[in-house]
Amino acid sequence: MYYQIEKMDGYYRIGSPEAVFSYLVTGSEKALLIDTGYGYGDLKAAVRSVTDKPLIIVNTHGHCDHTGGNAQFEETCYIHKEDIGLCKEHCSEEYRRGNIERAMHSVNYETGEEFNALPEDFNMEAYCLGGTGKLEPVSDGACFNLGGATVKVIETTGHTRGGISLLYEEKNILFIGDATGMFVWLFAEESTSLKEYINMLEKMYELDAKAYIGAHNPVPMHREELKLFMRAAKEADYSKGEPFESFLAADCEARVCAIDGMTMKDMFKPGFASVVIRKDPVL
Ligand SMILES: [Zn+2]
Ligand SMILES: [Zn+2]
Repeated sequence: MYYQIEKMDGYYRIGSPEAVFSYLVTGSEKALLIDTGYGYGDLKAAVRSVTDKPLIIVNTHGHCDHTGGNAQFEETCYIHKEDIGLCKEHCSEEYRRGNIERAMHSVNYETGEEFNALPEDFNMEAYCLGGTGKLEPVSDGACFNLGGATVKVIETTGHTRGGISLLYEEKNILFIGDATGMFVWLFAEESTSLKEYINMLEKMYELDAKAYIGAHNPVPMHREELKLFMRAAKEADYSKGEPFESFLAADCEARVCAIDGMTMKDMFKPGFASVVIRKDPVL
């Protein structure tokens, strides 16, 4: 199968070759899918191999690597209203064509090897015309009761203006999408000010979750790491940053600003934390 499904402590992790994770929380009545990845493979079949319960879908934010698979589902996809426009742009035909092109030449960051991340039976035209799925706005405090499992929406802006995280209350686990991490992208048009990002981290810290689970990192993060990410944001100095290469960052001269004089070469070392900011970051 294109997707790799792993049973974790109280939820399922659905991973894809292009290093994006979706998460599935199942209750006695309903199931909830957090993010739909790029959706190159048959995500619906992957989800249905785990549960036949009625499904709720929530997008942590509007980026294409979190909403691309929405179109496979008839069910409503919940997203914060501030990210609906972003989702429409990222699920447009033009955007999808660009993504496919890049997916065919994916690079493994650890080994540097190039690979094709598309499945063998990939239907390019259907994918390109897929659209956004059935979007419905959701906001801070909304609660999904799945039957013995409760998932609550917490606004976590910074990476995007409509970023949300999902708190699985019974387990005290927070699914954070791209809200933070050792290498968080804050350079895009849709990002907020650094101050708002720092405030969000403080709020996340106060939540005191048992684990903070990101969409691109197989290792759950813990509360103390949030302190490192706060430092990275507070100490960020564009003039000392390292140029960041990405088609998304082409017009804003983004740079990676890491703590303690580290560079991207140190990315896999413990204690690495950075923010990727634009030339004139909104402070
Ligand atoms: Zn993102
Ligand atoms: Zn992402």
